[in-house]
Order: sequence, then structure tokens, then C-alpha cells
Amino acid sequence: MEPSKSPRTTAEALEKLMHASHILHQHDVLDGFGHISIRNPENPERCFLTGTAAALIKSPDVFTEYWIKDGEPVKEGTFWSPYSEHHIHAAILAKFPEVQSVVHSHALDVIAYTVTAGSEIQGGSTTSGLKPIIHTTGFLGEHVPIWDIAPAYTSEHEQRNRYLLVNDYGLGESLAAAADKPSGQYPYHKVVLQRGHGFVALGDSIEEAVYNAIYTVKNARIQAQAEQRAILHPDQPIHFLSSAEIEACAPMDKDCIMKVWPLWMAEIKKNPLWQ
Ligand SMILES: [Zn+2]
Repeated sequence: MEPSKSPRTTAEALEKLMHASHILHQHDVLDGFGHISIRNPENPERCFLTGTAAALIKSPDVFTEYWIKDGEPVKEGTFWSPYSEHHIHAAILAKFPEVQSVVHSHALDVIAYTVTAGSEIQGGSTTSGLKPIIHTTGFLGEHVPIWDIAPAYTSEHEQRNRYLLVNDYGLGESLAAAADKPSGQYPYHKVVLQRGHGFVALGDSIEEAVYNAIYTVKNARIQAQAEQRAILHPDQPIHFLSSAEIEACAPMDKDCIMKVWPLWMAEIKKNPLWQ
């Protein structure tokens, strides 16, 4: 199978977005909720997002195009997306020009880490207890922030509408700010947890965003198993990756993406859902 190439045209981007949606469903990152976006390679001020559940996408023409500057649909009168959280994608892509794709997931394995904050505060965000525990998750970095939507609500948000969805551009900008990273290997956090809701995974390519999302879920599963074992066996503390290991693994993770992508493509092509 040929290695994956960065899309150069809108048509290539939409086809890749459809495949990425199927891969994320196959790996339990997306179900009826959650979505992935891609920046339009022919106009970086715009992005595409699905308007239907990832597993139900049958052709590339189900995607809606949005302006990243304000999250509004490009074609007036054609806005029909049932996902009000397209503002997540628009605001993050606007803040970080190098980011090409964003995954927003409600994967259950990660939720516990969104509601149990660590004690450190970093740049106004709470640092989560989720830490890189396997060599394939160095991209998580030293700290994975938790963004809490509650302080981001303003007097314009009625109490009855505060149901934790990032359904306007201002909330999206607040979430995007939590991904800002003052130092380290990357200018932004690759993953930000959302309290009581889910997480976002960012990538310089759509393949990287998919990889980061899939391995965030895997890390959460393994870490939860290790934490249960540590309770049963207090003499066996958990060994997370050291700072030096995180620094070494992060670029290695990026190199590995194109090794697993052909496998993930082959898997979805054999899944009867998309025959
Ligand atoms: Zn959501």
C-alpha cells in the first residue's frame, strides 16, 4: 500500500477526512458524538467538518465548510450540521496556523482523567493526572491540561444552556487558549482534556491528529489498569515515562504515524460498514 500523502486539493482532503472518520470509529474514538476536521489545503482560512456520525459517512460530500475566523459556514443557507461544536475546530485552527486537523472525542476511557485534576496549575489551566505511560504517547508531553468550560461562560450564556457543549466561537477560543504552550518541543499541547466532556487532539497533519487521539485513549486505558494494580500492590509504584523519555519518544511517535496509517486504512476497507 502506498504511504499516505498530505492532501493538496479540496477533493483529496475530503476523501482523507472520510477515511480518518472511519478509522476513528474503528478505534472507539468517535461514536455518535465527536468529529474530526481538516484545514482546506486550497484555502487555509477554511476547514471542513462532518455533519453526521463518523461511522455513517458514505461519501465526501457530507462535509460542511467553515471559516476558521468565526466558525460560520462558508455557504450561507446551506448550514445544516447537527454538530454545534464546529466552533472547537474553527477556533483551534485559527489560533495555531501549523495545525492542520483537530479531533474532538467523547471517548469514555479518558473522561475520568478530565474530572480528577492534579494539583498543579499551568497557564490558567489545571494539569490533569493523565501522563504518558507508554513509548507511543510521548506526544502527551509533561503535562496534559484540563480545560473547564464553567469559567468560560459569560453573562450572555443562560444557565439553562450551560450543558458543557462548545457551541459558540467564544467558548472555542477559550478552549484553544488552553492548548497554548509557552515552552517545550511544540508550540501547542497536542491534547487538551475537557472537564466532564472529552478531549481534543491536534496534529500538524490529519494522520497525526488521528494518531494522537487513538493513542490518548490507549494511554488512558493502560494508565487506569496500572492505577488499579498500584492500589492492589502498593509496593509496585507506576513507572511513567521520564522527562528524557518523553522528549525522546515524542518525535519517534511522529515518525511512526505513517507506519500504522496503511494498516488502519486496510482495516476500514475490510469493515462491512463501509463496503
Ligand atoms: Zn463534545
